[in-house]
Amino acid sequence: MKELTPIPDVAQPIADVTRNIAKAKESSPLAFEGNICLLGASKGQGRALIEAAIKAGMRDFGENRVQEAADKWPEIKNKYPEVRLHCIGALQRNKVAAAVALFDVIQTVDREALAEALAAEMHQQGRKLACYVQVNTGAEPQKAGVSVEETEALVAKCRMLGLDVVGLMCVPPVGQHPAPHFALLAKLAVECGLKGLSMGMSEDYETAVRMGASCVRLGRVIFGERA
Ligand SMILES: *Cc1c(COP(=O)(O)O)cnc(C)c1O
Repeated sequence: MKELTPIPDVAQPIADVTRNIAKAKESSPLAFEGNICLLGASKGQGRALIEAAIKAGMRDFGENRVQEAADKWPEIKNKYPEVRLHCIGALQRNKVAAAVALFDVIQTVDREALAEALAAEMHQQGRKLACYVQVNTGAEPQKAGVSVEETEALVAKCRMLGLDVVGLMCVPPVGQHPAPHFALLAKLAVECGLKGLSMGMSEDYETAVRMGASCVRLGRVIFGERA
């Protein structure tokens, strides 16, 4: 189908957000010392808009659904091999093979069975993807993520399986102040000996950066409201 609506400008929001991240980083002694990854959460967005973001300098993208990512991304990744694609949605066992083939980073490891399936599949495919353990910091029954109490054990299990665990990830409960959740994730990461913290979305990424985020995942503030 032809795209009838004009592509919104993404270069300006990317520049604005990049500046805001730098400012937030400078203002806080708790901020991550390395390069902060600005990840475009591109679910529901078409190829033309994604390519515009790549041309504006964005290198990391996150998708929630394996099927949607498999439909959209192989072509884009062929054209722009420097782009890294992160899985930021719940991952089912039967999608693990496709996910390992497609993604560069898995941010949503949240249970032993999934860690085992990922490790086996990476071995099988001869691929080694960086992984984050997703933590359900708000103990929400409907939400993905390992419990706070079980986080350290799951990280240990992932390491035992040979997974390259680089950090923790969380999605705080809607309607709550995110700062306590970010603080909890940062504390857990220290306890687990991890540096990476994937936290912060459109509404709260500056808070997340001040509290140590190494990766912020931004959808609406970059691409506009989702259809
Ligand atoms: C959609 C999504 C985001 C981005 O959300 P915005 O509020 O649009 O910035 C971040 N993380 C995850 C896991 C998402 O699903």
